[in-house]
Amino acid sequence: MKYSIRMRAAQGGPHENGGHHISGAERILAKDELASAAGELLLRALHHSKGEADFIRLTVDAISPENIHYMPCLAIDSTYHTTPEETQESAIRLLSAHGISEKAVRTALHTLLSRNTTMRGAMIIDCETGERLDTLEDRGIRVSHLGFANPLEASLQLAAAGFTGDHIKEALVLASKVLAAPGVVGELCISDDPDYVTGYVSYGTTYHRLAPIKELGNPFGGRLFFVKPNTDLFALRHYLEEQTILVKSPTIIPTNETAKEASQSPTNITHATLQHELQQELADLKTRAVHRSLTTYTPINGARAQANVRTYLMMTTNNYLGLAQSAALREAAAKAIKIYGTGSGGSRLLSGSFPLFQQLEENLAQLKNTEAALVFNTGYMTNVGVISALVHAGDHIISDELNHASIIDGCRLSRANIHVYQHNDITSLIKVMAALPPTGRRLIITDGVFSMDGDIAPLPALLDIAHQYQAWLAVDDAHATGVIGDGRGTAHHFGISNDPALIQIGTLSKAIGSEGGFVCASRLVIDYLINKARSFIFSTALSPADIGAALAAVQSLLTAKAPVKRLQQAIQTMTTALAEAGILVPGKTEAITPQSHLVTAASPVVGNATEPPQVVKKAQNFTPTPIFPIIVGSAERALAVANAMKEQGIILSAVRPPTVPQGESRLRLTVTADHSEADIRYVAQTLKTVLTQQL
Ligand SMILES: *Cc1c(COP(=O)(O)O)cnc(C)c1O
Repeated sequence: MKYSIRMRAAQGGPHENGGHHISGAERILAKDELASAAGELLLRALHHSKGEADFIRLTVDAISPENIHYMPCLAIDSTYHTTPEETQESAIRLLSAHGISEKAVRTALHTLLSRNTTMRGAMIIDCETGERLDTLEDRGIRVSHLGFANPLEASLQLAAAGFTGDHIKEALVLASKVLAAPGVVGELCISDDPDYVTGYVSYGTTYHRLAPIKELGNPFGGRLFFVKPNTDLFALRHYLEEQTILVKSPTIIPTNETAKEASQSPTNITHATLQHELQQELADLKTRAVHRSLTTYTPINGARAQANVRTYLMMTTNNYLGLAQSAALREAAAKAIKIYGTGSGGSRLLSGSFPLFQQLEENLAQLKNTEAALVFNTGYMTNVGVISALVHAGDHIISDELNHASIIDGCRLSRANIHVYQHNDITSLIKVMAALPPTGRRLIITDGVFSMDGDIAPLPALLDIAHQYQAWLAVDDAHATGVIGDGRGTAHHFGISNDPALIQIGTLSKAIGSEGGFVCASRLVIDYLINKARSFIFSTALSPADIGAALAAVQSLLTAKAPVKRLQQAIQTMTTALAEAGILVPGKTEAITPQSHLVTAASPVVGNATEPPQVVKKAQNFTPTPIFPIIVGSAERALAVANAMKEQGIILSAVRPPTVPQGESRLRLTVTADHSEADIRYVAQTLKTVLTQQL
């Protein structure tokens, strides 16, 4: 004997009394499967994304075997698209290739999509005209008395093919029953679950999954049953609502992608050749001195770190103010953990937006003098999310050639047209702007302080051009916040006030001493990003410790000037010390009597035995940033110098291609507010000695 177990759940009382529908489901099961199914259905009703049910009806009816019909399951196929529009077009194509007129599908789909209420049942549609035939208004025709003949086996088969969850099981059974109904030639279904964007069409013997058939978050859906003209509607309704149908276990058709992989991989790339390929590529990186590996350091403060019981001077950190190890930030992080715990538990839009976020965003907006701010999980994710939200295919990004990799990735993801202008070159930028076509949004984007060279973007001129050509200007202040403009960044450094065309991006992980990224802009742009930036929407929010620490740091930037002053002092001291050591650093030092054959960026000769020693002074175009690019030429020389410095107890990084162009490998030396004058003098003197030895 089989039993039908059905659940209907509503909020605000029973459906009959106007209660709001939450969920409904039916299973046909053997006796000993009933108890666990009842529990599962109750849980579903009580924890539904549409709300908690306060009315639940569970019914169980025995069905005598002779009243049960068995039928085969439809075969599953899947196609994935990028937008709901593409998916809907694909649904129309599939159905109109299988006995339903294209006009009928378009008309009926339009009828369905233009409703802004959800129907519990389906509309019956004439497959030639697209006209709705049933008179059931908002109720529609419901399908019940159905299930898998062997639910456990069906679940296992579906799971083995990668299909889990109740949606597909129930939909597959329903579609199989519907397509066997007298007169039915096809079905189209869009779920009313706001989180479930996979729809399907069924025809012939196929259940064809299509995603995304609607926008995520859209709570509307419905079903269309296409029938031949002159179908007996009374018989159809009786079959769908009353006839018990059990469906045999499913068969799976591989999707377009899996089919492709399966047909290719065994022939040309085996696991063995793949392993060989990876080893070859890594070996090749080593021979070119551009192989990278990880070294573990234990930070002490902004100036020192430990490794293997030795203490090193750390000259390559972005922790410019030493805040990451400060007592104040440690305390703020600990306090946030005490109050809110260790994890945020969800994306900001779901449950992750605990109160510290609002405070932090208000303080960031104040720091950058904008209407609003939004925190992301990293600076990388900020660039990727902001750029791909603001511009799309057909729009234009105008990007400095030396922009950070995260900007480049954001540009690629947006699919906008990318135009690169020469580094900090206004003439080059104007040339690009003047040649842009008249259509599409425009976004000019630049690092504020460039991460490898430490030079500063000419923001006032860029902003003038942005206004003249109706473009946004985004500035990435990753190395500017906490550093220049009293710690407020590039705009403040140049005295630029709040400007609706200006978008200021930054990170909480460098001078701020925590983890995360942010964007400051007009309220309008921030609201838009909350709704459109995918790296913001689809990632779990930062943890309380990160936000607590960042908040303390930003508040201290707003009130205390001392840390930024100490950093600026360290930058001046390092510049003087390097000048005294005769070391050329673009943007920091220059030769007093320019000897052009010596002063090329690629060969800053220091104490070269064959050349007279140079007399070096602070540069006229001096930039007050903590990044000192010491260009040494080849990747091999950069590595040799970095290794020799490490032997002397100093850590700095050898920056090599592809991070910088070929032949411009360099030591990237940074100073922080925690470096003493003695530290700095020791580094400059040691560097002079090592550069002389490693020619
Ligand atoms: C470091 C950096 C980023 C990335 O920030 P994270 O918070 O480390 O992800 C973005 N842009 C620039 C210019 C950077 O230097």
